[in-house]
Amino acid sequence: MPKDKSKPGSLLIKGGHLIDPAAHIDGPMDVLLRDGRVAEIALPNEIPGSADEKFDARGLIVAPGFIDLHVHLREPGQGYKETMVTGTEAAAAGGFTSVCTMPNTTPVIDTPEWVAWQREPERGAVVNVFPVAAATRASRGAALTDFAALRRAGAVGVTDDGKPILDDEIMRGALLLGADLNLPVVQHAEDTRLTENCSMHEGRTSFRLGLRAMPSIAEASMVDRDVYLAQRIPGSRLHVAHLSTADALKAVRRGKRGNHKARVTCEVTPHHFTLLDEDVGEYNTNCKMNPPLRSAADREAILVALADGTVDAIATDHAPHATHEKEVEFDRAAFGVTGLETALPLAITKLHREQKIRLTRIVELFTAGPARVFNLRGRGSLTRGNFADVTIFDAKKRWTFEAAKSRSMSRNTPFDGWPLTGKVVATIVGGKMMYGAE
Ligand SMILES: [Zn+2]
Repeated sequence: MPKDKSKPGSLLIKGGHLIDPAAHIDGPMDVLLRDGRVAEIALPNEIPGSADEKFDARGLIVAPGFIDLHVHLREPGQGYKETMVTGTEAAAAGGFTSVCTMPNTTPVIDTPEWVAWQREPERGAVVNVFPVAAATRASRGAALTDFAALRRAGAVGVTDDGKPILDDEIMRGALLLGADLNLPVVQHAEDTRLTENCSMHEGRTSFRLGLRAMPSIAEASMVDRDVYLAQRIPGSRLHVAHLSTADALKAVRRGKRGNHKARVTCEVTPHHFTLLDEDVGEYNTNCKMNPPLRSAADREAILVALADGTVDAIATDHAPHATHEKEVEFDRAAFGVTGLETALPLAITKLHREQKIRLTRIVELFTAGPARVFNLRGRGSLTRGNFADVTIFDAKKRWTFEAAKSRSMSRNTPFDGWPLTGKVVATIVGGKMMYGAE
């Protein structure tokens, strides 16, 4: 939903290296966009005719537009943290052409009217916004929302994110209803009976700092139950949000590969594949998020799962907060970190350069993977006729991330001042340049 409503013309992206995992392309290709769609993909210099505009992509990677499955844009109700304008501007700066927004706003997005409101052009979003609506009324966990009406209004999934869907019967009902509508149920997997008043992962660091801490089992037991339920409900779709523990991964693998195969998918955040619980250091509240930073063994398991295909998507869980909500005692600080502008550089720095995960796999985790999870048809690949959403980046560029220069309204990132490799050069949404050089 770009701001500028004028009709996009044609744009030829020339000389770049196209990585489109869904189309099995990894090589030099030119891409022609016309009228908001992909018009042509061809070997260099083989697209005839002229385009209104040209983009010189020599030395750059051209990829389908990135999709973030897990973003908190804070509107309605908390525009002092982030608005749909600033949040989507940060998304565009991070290379994301589509964001899926979480419903834990004020009020909670639990009606078709609010879903429609988030999608209105008046919100000023500069990238595509796909609302994920609440699974239960006001996300209180007691009564399911009207999934069919929410879907008709444009919701791509349901969740009570911020909180789990704890009750067995309610979760079973959500998966059953989701199965009828082919709608994914997104679980924030946390058994809150085990995590009340906790502020970090349970381990040596929490002991040293004297903080009440969350055991890994609080996540794993919930994923375990959900996978069992999904395996017994034909057609149901379970998506595990921000998965952070080795044990939860075991349950996801069981669901994906076991005898009772279920449609289970999961996402992992850049902060969980980059940082550890010990990075909390001396009560750094920019390392406080939920799920918390975990142990080295958990991170190792996540890195393996990112490489071997168990993980379906990298999602940021971009969670902006105002300074006054973070500059307080650790146990009183808000949970969450921003992440839209650091996701790709962290993936390139940590996954590609350090872990030797191929760029095609990383692009898949930002494109085809997430598009499949929420059935975003026409996105996640640049085949002819698809939406003209394109992300262009320099995989070798070294730079330093400065939180003060972020497009987000908030500054709560643990990565301020980090030297990183890999930078977004241009973000094209529906054929229009929404970030980058003209
Ligand atoms: Zn969550």
